[in-house]
Amino acid sequence: MQSFRYSQAKTIEGATRAQGMFLAGGTTLVDLMKLNVLQPSVVVDINGLPLDRVEALPNGGLRIGALVRNSDLAWNATVKEKYAVLSEALLSGASPQLRNMATTGGNLLQKTRCYYYRDTNYACNKRQPGSGCSAMDGFNRIHAVLGGSEHCVATHPSDMAVAMMALEATVHTSGPKGERAIALDEFYLVPGSTPDKENVLAPGEVITHVTLPAPAAGTRSHYLKLRDRAQYEFALASCAAVIQLSGGSIQHARIAFGGVGTKPWRSREAEKALEGQIASPDVFKQAAEAAMAGAKPLKYNEFKIELAKRALIRTLETTTQSA
Ligand code: SF4
Repeated sequence: MQSFRYSQAKTIEGATRAQGMFLAGGTTLVDLMKLNVLQPSVVVDINGLPLDRVEALPNGGLRIGALVRNSDLAWNATVKEKYAVLSEALLSGASPQLRNMATTGGNLLQKTRCYYYRDTNYACNKRQPGSGCSAMDGFNRIHAVLGGSEHCVATHPSDMAVAMMALEATVHTSGPKGERAIALDEFYLVPGSTPDKENVLAPGEVITHVTLPAPAAGTRSHYLKLRDRAQYEFALASCAAVIQLSGGSIQHARIAFGGVGTKPWRSREAEKALEGQIASPDVFKQAAEAAMAGAKPLKYNEFKIELAKRALIRTLETTTQSA
């Protein structure tokens, strides 16, 4: 690991001025520094900032501080009751020890598990722009079928972000140019020709909190994660559904996928196929076909398309059965 300067931020303004990489739970940054994948010259410890609270908002929504630990958020009574999909997604991720350390802001920013990215012996455009993509002709079983480019096909690894995508979360930031509120769907970038640029954060801009809108009456939600083993494993395909039902009819649907896209993948195609329809196996199947119509498989990951379709159908069955 190369040497770096360490500092502790006492204020948000101080953190943004420091122009370094932010250290919160350290579950991504420290890992990748040990592998020499990330080599920051300045590390800014933000654990002392007052961003560790979950608070109800006057409009019925929820404000989640960027330093709220994943375990605390998963077991928060309001989250469990009103945003079940988020609690389920958090509890499906990593291990209890990691969830005790990992933070809300860090989870949104966690790096891909592409093995070529994490091994400096291989070319990787995300780690070293212009060097090539070893996954394109390599073993690309875990890679994306949606949102990829010839320069990168890495998936985003977060479960939490998939649930937040379906919940239509907003990311709030503070940076050298002031404060911003960014819809989560606009926060992430697809790789295009610049896979090293993963989101719209500017240098020095820090996530302060995330807000969730109030759930409408009759809203139900669920997260399903499919993976190679039941614990401590990343999704091959996952699905988050937030559904508002009335008399068996789907009034409102928000659908997002994990494990298949280069960012947490909201499927407006699936939502369109569901809204206004009576919940039924045929409608679920049509939504699944619509969701994956634009998928482009690589040599080793074609199975993900069928897996994602089945994940959506099962998620919708579970979500609507409890109605
Ligand atoms: Fe790097 Fe992306 Fe290619 Fe993986 S898929 S090797 S992260 S450029």
